[in-house]
Amino acid sequence: MAKVVIVTGASRGIGAATARLLATRGYAVGVNYRTRAQQADEVVAQIIAAGGKAVALQADVSNESDVIRLFDETERALGSITHLVNNAGGLFAQSRLVDIDLERFNRVLQTNLTSCFLCCREAARRLPAGGAVVNLSSVAARLGAPFEYIDYAASKGAIESLTKGLSTELAGQGIRVNAVSPGLIYTDIHADGGEPGRVDRLGPSLPMKRGGQPEEVANAIAWLLSDEASYVTGSIVDVAGGR
Ligand code: NAP
Repeated sequence: MAKVVIVTGASRGIGAATARLLATRGYAVGVNYRTRAQQADEVVAQIIAAGGKAVALQADVSNESDVIRLFDETERALGSITHLVNNAGGLFAQSRLVDIDLERFNRVLQTNLTSCFLCCREAARRLPAGGAVVNLSSVAARLGAPFEYIDYAASKGAIESLTKGLSTELAGQGIRVNAVSPGLIYTDIHADGGEPGRVDRLGPSLPMKRGGQPEEVANAIAWLLSDEASYVTGSIVDVAGGR
């Protein structure tokens, strides 16, 4: 089976690292982005320069018609989709729950959770037996992210529920659904939260005494997608330095 994967939110960070790694493992990669076209084009250029196959595809994955278009365009460009990585996500400035307004709360749920639901639904409609999905959760799902972003933590908790439920619905069709739960990873998401140096501040307090690199998360995603994880479904794999 030719392997074709969509990686949502692959213009930077964990998504970009995952797109690059999967290309080296023989996947044709749909590099989805929302706003950063130039960075997505650079990821595609790196993949092609290394002998891989990829296309950049703009879509806001929290929007239903964008998601359907993303899957259609990927199929036209690369062939039938066999794998999906629901990586797109985001958060806003660190804040206590008491100060989070409804618009922000709804935006966080839409960006993280609605996007995961929409892409999972499209995958459930289209993936063949032998296909696999990996969703990006966060250790925030079990820690709750107090004083920082409870809205984000709640969206990730819901992604874990969705992962468990869908894995059971699709197991009989030979499609596996798992999640990776990163801890503190060096990406620009922390600057979006208002603290670019957050990983350096908190990394030393972890059992492994450091933050993680996007490539270390990508390795876990690639394993879960692969046949090496053929008996793994409904699992949440922590990539969090021991926390
Ligand atoms: P990042 O560097 O901020 O990158 C986020 C990516 O998501 C960007 O490519 C962005 O695209 C894309 N995106 C956001 N909203 C989108 C939408 N509506 N439609 C399409 N693309 C969208 O984030 P990251 O740190 O790599 O995180 C990746 C995933 O891992 C997220 O789900 C995050 O919650 C999770 N995670 C990260 C950490 C960490 O410490 N970094 C820890 C736990 C979990 P554009 O830039 O093109 O807009």
